[in-house]
Amino acid sequence: MTTADPATDDTPRIGLGIDVHRLERGLRCVLGGVELPGDLGPSGHSDGDAILHAVCDACLGAAGLDDLGTLFPDKDARNRGRDSREFCTETLSRVRGAGLRVAGLDVVVECERPKIAPHRAALRASLASLFAVEIARVNVKGKTAEGLDAIGRGEALRATAIALLVPAR
Ligand code: MG
Repeated sequence: MTTADPATDDTPRIGLGIDVHRLERGLRCVLGGVELPGDLGPSGHSDGDAILHAVCDACLGAAGLDDLGTLFPDKDARNRGRDSREFCTETLSRVRGAGLRVAGLDVVVECERPKIAPHRAALRASLASLFAVEIARVNVKGKTAEGLDAIGRGEALRATAIALLVPAR
């Protein structure tokens, strides 16, 4: 396999990340690094922040690096209850190490609750800060599943993210 060198290759890199977490009553709801109000939150080995997990995987994918599950195995007790913002710091560091920077992020969150739209500005600002990209280059959209499947029944949440990386210079 040949790896393009960001020093000589201006081609943008695109990556996709998807993450699903169960929703359970009585858990904190931290998404995109923002604590959202409500009585329902994602369960998981870390803090269950499906948005950050999907965005990290999209960035790692675009950079041709490992995925989040490889970097931070859920079998590792150190990752229990871990603040997913730490995964973002590590991801950004590896993206920079590959000579790249984040030039755009777009995220779709599928869930019945919490409602995403009222929190869009806060979510965009949080992602922009965590991934060192301008707010105008970040978006987050909420979709419902029309009552269908586990997401439609409010039992789970899915985040899908796409990331555009460009050479850092
Ligand atoms: Mg996850």
